[in-house]
Amino acid sequence: MNTKSHHTHTHSKIRGVSEEEAESGKLLYSDENHKFIWLGWSHKGAGEVQANQFLIVSGKEAVLLDPGGVHVFPFVISTISRYISLESVRYIFYSHQDPDVCSGMGLFMSVCPNARFLISRLWLRFVPHFGSVNISRVEAIQDSGTTINLPFSRLHIIPAHFLHSEGNFSLYDSRSKILFSGDIGASVMPENDIYFEVEDFEKHVKYMEWFHKRYMKSNKVLRKWVSIVRKYEVEIIAPQHGAIFRGENVRKFLSWLENLKCGDDILEEIYGY
Ligand code: FE
Repeated sequence: MNTKSHHTHTHSKIRGVSEEEAESGKLLYSDENHKFIWLGWSHKGAGEVQANQFLIVSGKEAVLLDPGGVHVFPFVISTISRYISLESVRYIFYSHQDPDVCSGMGLFMSVCPNARFLISRLWLRFVPHFGSVNISRVEAIQDSGTTINLPFSRLHIIPAHFLHSEGNFSLYDSRSKILFSGDIGASVMPENDIYFEVEDFEKHVKYMEWFHKRYMKSNKVLRKWVSIVRKYEVEIIAPQHGAIFRGENVRKFLSWLENLKCGDDILEEIYGY
C-alpha cells in the first residue's frame, strides 16, 4: 500500500485508521473545549517496539502523554503542531522511566518552553541520563499520585506501581473518560493483523498475554490497580503500545487482569527451575 497517498478514504496498515489519521492523528474524544488525540503509531519495523503517543487539549492548554523516544520526536512534534502551538503544552506526563517513554525528554524541553515534566519521584535522578535535561523543570510525582486541573477537565494521576515499573502511574481524564494506562494493556500484534481498537477480546488476549505475565509484578498488584480503576467511569483504556479498549472490552480487560497469574505468581515458570 502506498502510504504517501493523500486520498482521505484509503486505509493505513492499521485497521480502523485512515491514512489521513495515520499522518495527522485521530480524535478519541472531542467537544468544543476538550480533545483527547491519538498522535500516531510510531514503528520503524522489526526490532523496535511500537508506541502510541497521546495529546490532551483543554481550552488553550495541552498535556502530552508518554511522548516517546528520540527518533519519533520529529513526527510527534509535527503532529502536535496541527492542533496547538508548542508554547501551550503545560505538562508532559511520563508513566515510567523506560527509554521508549522518556528518552526524548531533553528534546521536548527545548521545544516546549512552558512545559513541566511529570514523573515518579523514583526516577527523578535517572532522567538526566537521557541527555540535556533541566531537572528544575521536572516535577516528582509522589507515590499516591496527584490531580491536575485543566481549563475543562481534571486529570487524575493514579498509582500503578510494579505494573511493570516500580514507580509507575496511569492517567485518567475525567472529561473524556479515557484512562491512559501506560504499559498496562500493551499488546504486540503481527504485521498482518494490526488494528487500532480491540474488536474480539478473546482473540486479543494472545497478543498481550506473554507481556503481562512476564513484565507485571503479581496478581495482587493487578487487583489493587483494577480496584482503583473501577472507581472511575472509564469508557476507553488507551495503552502506550498496541490497541485501545472501549466499552465492554474495558470491562473484559479489567476482569482478565484480575484473574491473571504473573510475575511472583509464576516464578518457577519464568526462572526455568
Ligand atoms: Fe515500559
